Amino acid sequence: MTVAMIVHGGAWAIPDDQVDAHARGCLTAVRTGYAILRDGGSALDAVEAAIRVMEDDPIFDAGRGSCLTRDGEVELDASLMDGATLNVGAVACVKHIAQPIHLARLVLESPHVLLVGEGAERFAQQHGMPLCANEDLIVERERAIWQEYQRRGHTHLGDAFEPRADTVGAVALDASGNIAAGLSTGGTPNKLPGRVGDVPLVGCGFYADNAVGGVACTGFGEAIARMALAHRTMQGLEAGLTPAEAAERAIQTLAARVSGTAGLIVVDRLGRVGFAYNTKRMARAFLTEGMARPYVAVDRTEWKEPED
Ligand code: ASP
Repeated sequence: MTVAMIVHGGAWAIPDDQVDAHARGCLTAVRTGYAILRDGGSALDAVEAAIRVMEDDPIFDAGRGSCLTRDGEVELDASLMDGATLNVGAVACVKHIAQPIHLARLVLESPHVLLVGEGAERFAQQHGMPLCANEDLIVERERAIWQEYQRRGHTHLGDAFEPRADTVGAVALDASGNIAAGLSTGGTPNKLPGRVGDVPLVGCGFYADNAVGGVACTGFGEAIARMALAHRTMQGLEAGLTPAEAAERAIQTLAARVSGTAGLIVVDRLGRVGFAYNTKRMARAFLTEGMARPYVAVDRTEWKEPED
């Protein structure tokens, strides 16, 4: 049985001076997840580990480094799905959890599907997860962007500032044929407090089913949710499209029906990978059996490590 690992580090207009950091972050994440799969580990463990790497990397809009709400706080969403059991674990609007993907894993292993806010944080503590200060999740880069929003009365700031949010996601197929998909995000910059996008919504931002494949999205969450974009992509796979075709068709439909901008990554049950996006950039990396090294890209062409 083959194994496959694909990750994304967010769509949108990733600034030029952050391209290398996004590529490196995706590379580390895909290698981390793939090593677990290669050693016989589960798709769930691989997805969780890959996302944890990116949550800990402040370049991404997940965990520490996330963008701020209008109130100047970080509010995080995350999700994980097991394609073997169709169990789902998701959390939304948590403010004191540095690794929400692990909390999503704990929810997945419970009878619940989605926990939000204070209740989710209480659940975390009951399961031995420490809470952190919201301040600990904030980095200078995001505070400066937030201050600019404040200064300009929360209007649009132009391309240099938005839309740019770098949600992270991963999909894996393990040697037992199990597929998992997961996401973690701080949401969109300057979002309304309490705003939740596609990330914790099953069938919208993510889906996994061993019989078909797995999908993880990024982009404008409201549009992704309206289209149930992950579900649509799964329908494409079920209809016999390759992952690349299913991804492309889903993004085209999103653009045509709701003028949405987004990206997504896909793995099918045969371990074939695909992706598509209609944003300026999407950081991504994948590694499947037989590849000599991971594919990494942020733009349309493959990223190459700059020589010093
Ligand atoms: N989809 C995320 C959200 O709307 C944002 C992103 O993917 O960058 O919350």
